[in-house]
Amino acid sequence: MPELTPEQRELQAWAREFAERYVAPRALEIDADPESPLRDELIREGAKAGILGSSLPELLGGTAKSLLDGIIVTEEIAAACSGCAVLFGATGLGILPILLSGNFEAVTRLVLPLTQSWDGDDPKLAALAATEPSAGSDFINGSPHAEIRTRVEEKDGGWLINGRKVFISNGSLASLVTVFATHDTKGDIRSSMSCLAVPADTPGFSVGQVFEKMGQRACPAAELLFDDVWVPGENLLGEPGQGWMLNRSVMSTTRAPVGAIALGIARAAYEKALEYAEARVQGGKPIVGHQAVQLMLADMAIRVEAARGLVFRAGESIAAGRPALKLSSMAKTFASDAAVANATDAIQVLGGYGYMREYGVEKLLRDAKLTQIYEGTNQINRFEIMEQVALERA
Ligand SMILES: Cc1cc2nc3c(=O)[nH]c(=O)nc-3n(C[C@H](O)[C@H](O)[C@H](O)COP(=O)(O)OP(=O)(O)OC[C@H]3O[C@@H](n4cnc5c(N)ncnc54)[C@H](O)[C@@H]3O)c2cc1C
Repeated sequence: MPELTPEQRELQAWAREFAERYVAPRALEIDADPESPLRDELIREGAKAGILGSSLPELLGGTAKSLLDGIIVTEEIAAACSGCAVLFGATGLGILPILLSGNFEAVTRLVLPLTQSWDGDDPKLAALAATEPSAGSDFINGSPHAEIRTRVEEKDGGWLINGRKVFISNGSLASLVTVFATHDTKGDIRSSMSCLAVPADTPGFSVGQVFEKMGQRACPAAELLFDDVWVPGENLLGEPGQGWMLNRSVMSTTRAPVGAIALGIARAAYEKALEYAEARVQGGKPIVGHQAVQLMLADMAIRVEAARGLVFRAGESIAAGRPALKLSSMAKTFASDAAVANATDAIQVLGGYGYMREYGVEKLLRDAKLTQIYEGTNQINRFEIMEQVALERA
């Protein structure tokens, strides 16, 4: 794991203080009622404090000096509530295709007003819309069988979009959505898709179902509908047909922060289990003194350290501009498996109390499960790791 600089340690302490003061006390209530006004309060506080912009450079209204800064902050917020970490993080994800496409006009016209709103009382959010009802993993791995139904065609000097996306994090809250659509529903998605920026107030854009989620409930996952949505030509991000490659670059960058979300859950599970084991007395001594409990706690501690090592190393590689898809996929996969394992063990250490909502440990398991699914399921991530290995050996 890279040694943190004094500034990064300060950043970590600042994010931990924010998480303990503003996120942790609200986590269970927002989990129970995701539409609670507490969620909007949290967004406002996070936007003003700089948490929302923690993965963006200062030039764009963020606070990050490098991607590693965003990862440090994300771990801290996720340790208090991983759904809240996604609530904050999904905006960076939504903006990323605009930044990576190098479309400076769109950055000035669409991104800057959004980040400038964070000082006010109505902070704007963004979302990234790739997944479709018939194309989840097929979209991510660019399968020749992918059934992309969201279409884009040139019209009146701009682009007309029709289709439907599902499971979009922050979809129902976003003012700006980056959406992937195909020029040819029968074409190879690796060369027939484009990515476009769509302000949510564009006629024809609407939010459909907001899904009832198992975990990470602070962040809504929504269906987005595009019905003759017209955007100007400048809203195309990159060249026509480059959408899939752009999404690939996005995932190279975002899998490490997703790993940081999982790392936060794994750490919270370990810390809660350790604290409980030191206090709970059975068999005449604190249960931390029983070897069976010690074995679980030791495994949990190992997973946290190993996950942090991978996540931070991946973050450092991305920040240094090195190719990082393999390392980021490893970080996301390992950390999410660690999160599920630690959350399961934490419930076991707490026994019956671990199963009760008020202890906040069963939430960790519900939250952790999602980290094995989004940003490419762990099966797809493992295939991609081996694809990169094969490329290295070719
Ligand atoms: C809460 C939530 C939030 C999300 N947020 C976003 C978002 O903000 N934006 C966005 O675009 N998407 C988002 N997603 C979508 C997410 O990325 C997809 O759910 C994920 O990629 C899996 O796709 P799928 O659900 O269609 O499952 P499928 O692709 O149908 O996969 C089902 C199962 O089959 C396996 N499988 C699929 N293909 C293969 C294969 N070729 N070989 C072996 N096994 C395979 C998978 O590993 C999985 O176990 C979100 C999803 C959830 C649940």
